[in-house]
Amino acid sequence: MAEAKRDYYEVLGIGRDADDAAIKKAYRVLAKKYHPDMNPGDKEAEKKFKEASEAYAVLSDPEKRRQYDQFGHAAFEGGAGGAGGFGGFDFNGADFSDIFGDIFGDLFGGGHRGGRANNGPMKGANIRKSIRITFEEAVFGCEKELDLILKDPCEDCNGTGAKPGTSPETCSKCGGRGQIVYTSQSFFGTVQNVQTCPACGGSGKAIKEKCPKCSGTGYTSSRKRIKVSIPAGIDNGQSVRIRDKGEPGLNGGPRGDLLVEVNVSRHPVFQRQDVHIFSTVPISFAVAALGGDVRIPTVDGDVIYTVKAGTKTDTKVRLKGKGVPSLRNSQVRGDHYVTLVIQTPERLSAEAKEALRRFDELTGNTLNQNIGGGEKEKKKKKGFMEKVKEAFEE
Ligand SMILES: [Zn+2]
Ligand SMILES: [Zn+2]
Repeated sequence: MAEAKRDYYEVLGIGRDADDAAIKKAYRVLAKKYHPDMNPGDKEAEKKFKEASEAYAVLSDPEKRRQYDQFGHAAFEGGAGGAGGFGGFDFNGADFSDIFGDIFGDLFGGGHRGGRANNGPMKGANIRKSIRITFEEAVFGCEKELDLILKDPCEDCNGTGAKPGTSPETCSKCGGRGQIVYTSQSFFGTVQNVQTCPACGGSGKAIKEKCPKCSGTGYTSSRKRIKVSIPAGIDNGQSVRIRDKGEPGLNGGPRGDLLVEVNVSRHPVFQRQDVHIFSTVPISFAVAALGGDVRIPTVDGDVIYTVKAGTKTDTKVRLKGKGVPSLRNSQVRGDHYVTLVIQTPERLSAEAKEALRRFDELTGNTLNQNIGGGEKEKKKKKGFMEKVKEAFEE
């Protein structure tokens, strides 16, 4: 079982209502304390640093913070309980270079730190795809397949790009570092600019004789069919992460991930808001007045609902547990809210028209009956109620 993730607010030691400045301040303190450069070889510090960085990446992004507040960690996991295919946080989606530039730019006394060593093992890039599913598929979850072209390290050269029997040499332009530092003088002092080496593209290696199979790229591409498990309760615009189905890593690094954004089609009857479903059901005037059964479509199939006599138009009915499962816990479902709307008939047969006229006569709603007629009716009723009262008082 995976270790339970700590709450991001708890990690940063801030309240749920903390503003941007407070979030940044809290993270700076932790980052300074646990940064790997300050704690060489300390695994626990490294873990704490990553945890805090992840929390900061989410809470400093208004959209991510909103998702987190709503769904917790599940917002970034997609398929908790899936076949171990996903889980974890999309570091590539959060712009970490910005965060580090922002936080560490002044934390470590200025100077450009952009120097992540490019020739060490690096995780491959994430691939982003989107998929369209129906309203019901989003509610109950589904399995989808996605065809994509995936790169794999070339088998002939083991991804080096060098002809079998030869090996890549150190790039002479960058000395194998994969990047070139340009120093320039500016108004503010010496500025160092780090750029990826144009000769080797950052690999730090130079290939004299290219591998014929992959033309020196180190990769072969092939079409792959990937299974995507969409968890029940996913909402439009959320993504599912599939580990290790992204671009291959560099210099022995792990593969990137595949991030599948889910687009949910509109439903002709149901609307959704978070875990709740909304719909409108027409009822006839007769059913509204007399009471009766109406058929209400839900995502679980039709439900027969008994309308009470004397129901007014726009009456809201709550069908408990007929909404969308929560991403956090699919056993918990939202509700389905139905608005009952009384339909005014537009086309009537002569017989139906006559029946309605008769109805108005009987209920005293015609113009003639209303003049002077209403009062009499009330008196009659009052008389009856008084009789009832008398009966009880005895
Ligand atoms: Zn090759
Ligand atoms: Zn180079």
